Amino acid sequence: MSDTFKAILVSRDENKKQSVDTVDLREDDLMEGDVTVRVEATTVNYKDGLAITGKAPVIRKWPLIPGIDFAGTVTASQNPDWKPGDKVILNGWGVGETHHGAYAGRARVKGDWLVALPEEMSALDAMAIGTAGYTAMLCVIALERHAITPDRGPVVVTGAAGGVGSVAIAILSRLGYHVIASTGRASEADYLTGLGAAEVIDRAELSEPARALGKERWAGGIDAVGSHTLANVLSMTSYGGAVAACGLAGGMDLPTSVAPFILRGVSLLGIDSVMAPRQIREEAWQRLARDLDTQKLRALSQVKRFDDIVSTATDIVEGKVRGRVVIDMAG
Ligand code: NDP
Repeated sequence: MSDTFKAILVSRDENKKQSVDTVDLREDDLMEGDVTVRVEATTVNYKDGLAITGKAPVIRKWPLIPGIDFAGTVTASQNPDWKPGDKVILNGWGVGETHHGAYAGRARVKGDWLVALPEEMSALDAMAIGTAGYTAMLCVIALERHAITPDRGPVVVTGAAGGVGSVAIAILSRLGYHVIASTGRASEADYLTGLGAAEVIDRAELSEPARALGKERWAGGIDAVGSHTLANVLSMTSYGGAVAACGLAGGMDLPTSVAPFILRGVSLLGIDSVMAPRQIREEAWQRLARDLDTQKLRALSQVKRFDDIVSTATDIVEGKVRGRVVIDMAG
């Protein structure tokens, strides 16, 4: 008989009313997979907030353990790539959506979904980065592949005080970019300049319906907000620039015109972290180990405990969380 471990379980009744409970489970209760991992650290992403509060249909199999990413140690493996004792990270692949996720003492997943924890990184640091930070890195890599180098001009980051935004600012500034941080929280200006933002602007400047073309203000952008914000970012991107779009914190729509694309040759780069192939994941995590200042990472993250997950989920969808929240499963 295996030991029990604590887990958060989200269930639905026959009227589709959602409930969230903390339960004791055994490894036998987990779903299929060829690798079992002791979860040592996880995090609360915006998507986890949507899943736990039920504000968006993130969970598509019931009942389910939410939590889209974790770091931990392999305890059992039938996969040739992994053996007990290996330190691993998981982001996405439907974990916490259709497959039991991170908010449990153990997780059983497909070995192909895992990447190795970079040697110089702790499980807690990996989850301070989490899916939000790894997505920020995917955005940076996409801009680089589009030749948006620091000499091309400033890069704007929207949703700046959030998880994706905070890590994006820290990476971009370390790489030498002039970063313009767009935030609705003026009180976080010192925090954002501390991360490396050269300028902080009010997100209200980008929240009204966009003109077809605006003044050229930046060579590139990382957008976590969507809707009018992304439309404005596009219309203010200079000739030949590019914007990496990864989020929808302000809305799923994109009320824009083709003007930035056909008159300025601006490119819109779509970023998905969930199904990203393993090769780009490994590249992103190696780059994070190299290009993200650990001191800044610690400054943008706060460590909480398993029992704080549900309240943090509510806070994040209400826009009350600054930077990143790490859950220390041993805490
Ligand atoms: P956070 O909640 O930490 O940050 C989102 C930020 O967006 C907030 O802090 C706020 O920034 C800003 N914001 C929130 N609501 C609004 C609004 N109505 N209008 C304008 N700005 C708003 O979330 P994350 O950083 O974890 O995620 C950001 C987005 O990226 C989410 O939509 C998430 O779903 C998406 N995402 C997508 C991934 C992918 O694979 N494509 C992976 C990871 C995340 P401020 O207070 O500074 O204004």
